[in-house]
Amino acid sequence: MVKLGRTIKLRLYPDTEQAAAFLAMSEEYRRLANIVSQWIFDHGFQLSWLKINHHMYKKIRQESVLNSQMVQSVFRTVVAHYKTVREQMKQHPYRCKDEESKWVQVPRDLTWLVTSIQFHRPQADLVRQSNYSFVDKMQQLSITTLGKRTKLRFTDKGFEKYFTEDWKLGTAKLVHNQGKWFLHIGITKETSDFDAKDNPQIVGIDRGLRFLATAFDSEGKTRFFDGQKILRKRKKLLETRRQLQSKGTKSAKKKLKQLAQRENRWMTDVNHWLAKTLVAAYGSHTLFVLEDLTNVTFNTDDLPKSLRNSHRSWSFFQLESFLMYKAQAIQSAVVKVNPAFTSQRCPRCGLVEKTNRHHETHEYWCAQCQYRCNDDRLGAMNIKMLGQEWLNGIKRPKITKLTAIG
Ligand SMILES: [Zn+2]
Repeated sequence: MVKLGRTIKLRLYPDTEQAAAFLAMSEEYRRLANIVSQWIFDHGFQLSWLKINHHMYKKIRQESVLNSQMVQSVFRTVVAHYKTVREQMKQHPYRCKDEESKWVQVPRDLTWLVTSIQFHRPQADLVRQSNYSFVDKMQQLSITTLGKRTKLRFTDKGFEKYFTEDWKLGTAKLVHNQGKWFLHIGITKETSDFDAKDNPQIVGIDRGLRFLATAFDSEGKTRFFDGQKILRKRKKLLETRRQLQSKGTKSAKKKLKQLAQRENRWMTDVNHWLAKTLVAAYGSHTLFVLEDLTNVTFNTDDLPKSLRNSHRSWSFFQLESFLMYKAQAIQSAVVKVNPAFTSQRCPRCGLVEKTNRHHETHEYWCAQCQYRCNDDRLGAMNIKMLGQEWLNGIKRPKITKLTAIG
């Protein structure tokens, strides 16, 4: 069994009075979060809920109108933040040069923080049933505010299906964004895991530029996911960026930052779309096979210099994580394989030969057995083959280069 986690976002429709009550509550919540955060900072980063409760609960209850459960919720929220930061610091050690000018990594922990974690935005985490619940046959929400509980309307547009399936609702976050109020509810569901013995379909996916992705499946069918539009847009953005960079003014720098943010958002949308499309196209009991691009620098000769940078982007990794996330929900899985020689191996006779690939015509032509095919398709075929090997029990399948006969 595997536990899936999602967040559903409900739009709330408070009246003026309710909105004011929400704001007051989240402002108070934020204020207490900062007090608790400061205490943790001043007391050697004790993240034990019991200790924090013991030292802070009484004092806070005396000076705050937040109810008991909300105060506990503040403790949990602050501790969770510190734990997240602790994890991030662990994953990003400090790099510096030692006396002999060699790069060394120094592990970091919370004591590296120079100030306590600050909570800038008003917020409130609400526990199911105690702080929020659905009432009137799911037509309304009942939410805790400083004084009393209040009932209001909401919409669950786009998230309806999570109310009919067996998802469990968890803690919710009251969110205020550009004058609108939302309730983000964390939900979980237990579902059966991907089973390799279930005779899954195997889909090799080659990620590229000319095609966003090329997929080759167990039935020998190839699907191309067009990347031309994206490539054109990237080129245009690259051009705009270059112009702004050459200006070098303050306003140009600001525009550059906005441009980068816009590009990231847009690429995220593209990846969401692609992951969704792949999952919809192949369905459950599918093994999606991707190249493992960790530690690969994209200095491939295949690419024009101007595009190498965009090729190296985080977007490849993002697609991978989106696909994993969506595959998990439908008893499918993602496996990563060694990318070496996937664009050079002949799927018919197994010969690995770089010169078989003709970049100008986008064709692979085997000098030994005369097998010919589109070069994007070839990559996906070899990746699929490696996925089959993984299913057969080879832990790290990879293509090894054999020399041509004769
Ligand atoms: Zn061949």
